[in-house]
Amino acid sequence: MKIGGLIKFSLIDFPGKIAAVIFVQGCNFRCPYCHNPELVDPKSYSALIHEEEVLDFLNKRRGQLGGVVITGGEPTLQLDLLPFSLNVKNMGYALKLDTNGSRPEVIQALIDQNVLDYIAMDIKAPFVKYFDVAGVDNFADNVKQSIEIIKDSALDYEFRTTFIPGLMTENDIVEIAEMIKGAKRYKLQLFNVDKKNILDDNLRGNAPSQEEIKQFEIIKKKYEKDFK
Ligand code: SF4
Repeated sequence: MKIGGLIKFSLIDFPGKIAAVIFVQGCNFRCPYCHNPELVDPKSYSALIHEEEVLDFLNKRRGQLGGVVITGGEPTLQLDLLPFSLNVKNMGYALKLDTNGSRPEVIQALIDQNVLDYIAMDIKAPFVKYFDVAGVDNFADNVKQSIEIIKDSALDYEFRTTFIPGLMTENDIVEIAEMIKGAKRYKLQLFNVDKKNILDDNLRGNAPSQEEIKQFEIIKKKYEKDFK
């Protein structure tokens, strides 16, 4: 595994669990608002953390941490994601995967092997806008397939969208709600311009106006869904 970062203790990344968060290096998307350019742009890659070091840490924290989140970058690009996940699972941890949904066959394999407890999948935009919002095209079929695999699974899951004022509208969220119709959980977050690291420099300093924040809160209230 190419591990570019590790948060040893998080209360916010895995619903209901105290978790460690593992950040993998490498992504096949180029979302302009990405807050982890050092995991996405090879020019900004930071030094890798040895996998053994991470496994050793997890081994020592058994009983103190309840879960492990594998995020990125895009974890499903890692060739040894399945054996690594099995290793973590065998230590007794609940495992959460964060994914952009581009590799449904990997998601399916992880589900088939019973290594996952929770999946969070980004729905970047309606398919016609993927290029604007995620910097890629031609992933519609894969993303559709991933949505269906996740909805049909017995796992806890959430779909989530980062709302970027100026680039997205309420209609986009209506379309996304249709794409994931019947899903158990849908979360919306506003693009956070305050983060130091953003993949596309042009977005830096582009803070949403008070009016845009208000509009977002209305959209969030209307379209978010939680386990019921
Ligand atoms: S936000 Fe986009 S570019 Fe950044 S890691 Fe996630 S999918 Fe990749």
